[in-house]
Order: sequence, then C-alpha cells, then structure tokens
Amino acid sequence: MFCLIVDRLDFTKNIEMLIEFFDSQLIEPQAPTLDKQGIEETLKIIEDKFDLSKVVSNPVPVFIFPLNYSQRNVNMHNWPYINSITCTAINPALAEENELPDDQYILTHELGHLLVAKLSDYNTVPESFYPIFEKGFHNKRENVEAEYWPELFADTFSMAAAYNTELANTNPFMQKLFPSLSLFEQYFYNIIDEAKSDKISL
Ligand SMILES: [Zn+2]
Repeated sequence: MFCLIVDRLDFTKNIEMLIEFFDSQLIEPQAPTLDKQGIEETLKIIEDKFDLSKVVSNPVPVFIFPLNYSQRNVNMHNWPYINSITCTAINPALAEENELPDDQYILTHELGHLLVAKLSDYNTVPESFYPIFEKGFHNKRENVEAEYWPELFADTFSMAAAYNTELANTNPFMQKLFPSLSLFEQYFYNIIDEAKSDKISL
C-alpha cells in the first residue's frame, strides 16, 4: 500500500535538520549550481523513461531547491520526510582523485533516495533489490553493511535512469558496470510500474 503519511516527529526532525543545515553546512558556491533549466532537463529525461513522478510526486510533489551555495560535507542533500532535495553546487574539495562529479548525476542519485523512501523505508531497500545487487555487482549481500544499502540503491537507480540517455556520460559507475545496466534498467521499470499500480489501486 502506498501513501505518504509524514509522521509529525519525522517532519519535525527534517525541519530541524534543515535549519541546522542552513546554519552550519552551507558555504560560498565552489562551482555553478545546476540551474532550473538543468534540473528540468534532468527530470524530463528520467520522467520520459520511468514516469517517476507517479511514484515520487504522489501525492506530494518533490520540491527541488537550487541553492547558490556549496556544502561542506556532501554535494547535495535529500530530505525524505518533506520530499525535497537541496540542489547545491559541487564542492571540489570532496572530489576523489580530482574527478568532479557531475551535478545531473548527483541529482539523479538523490531522486533514488526519495524513491526508496516511497518503496520501503528511507533506511532500507526493497527485498527485491538484493538479488539484483548480487547479480549485477557480482557481490554477496552479506558483504554489505546495512547503512550502505540506500546508497547502493540510489546509485543503481542513477545508472538505470541514465542508461541509453543523454545522462549516460554523467555517471561515473556506468562504464565499470556496463554489462549489468540492462538488468538494472529492467529492475527499475518493474519496481516503478508495480508502485504505480499500487497507487492506482488505492
Ligand atoms: Zn546518497
């Protein structure tokens, strides 16, 4: 069953974290922020493929805030209990091996977090993801610590969304996992379709 019931405590917690975030995490922009047009282009590509808004923007729309700041510790942030993403400028200080991540890729990753919040729980992933992970990443479920699952899910979503689209060259993991991309794409077609029909039957 699907509905977005925001627990008062979760809502309060997100708002408190947001205030803390504005107070302590934002610094001068270290690069241009992805602008409204860039955000819309990214969303359109994902929407054309997955019709994602029927799940993540139902019943409450996703709010995306482009902020002309960077963040100290991460590149962007999602706030699942208020269905929002703060879209900030990439911080080169966080880049590994001088490889600046692409902001369209980061935005897609954050949407993956909002998706998992709708499909299961923000901190866990649907049971159906584990066999896909084992097959696609050639790894075993027991090798992964619990806290990493939402990250793996969000990144797998970002690869599935970008595969065979203009976003493909923005995603740093796709080359490495190329043989698994069609498996990932099919998985997200299936799971998003299932979630859409659950919503329709409400
Ligand atoms: Zn993440």
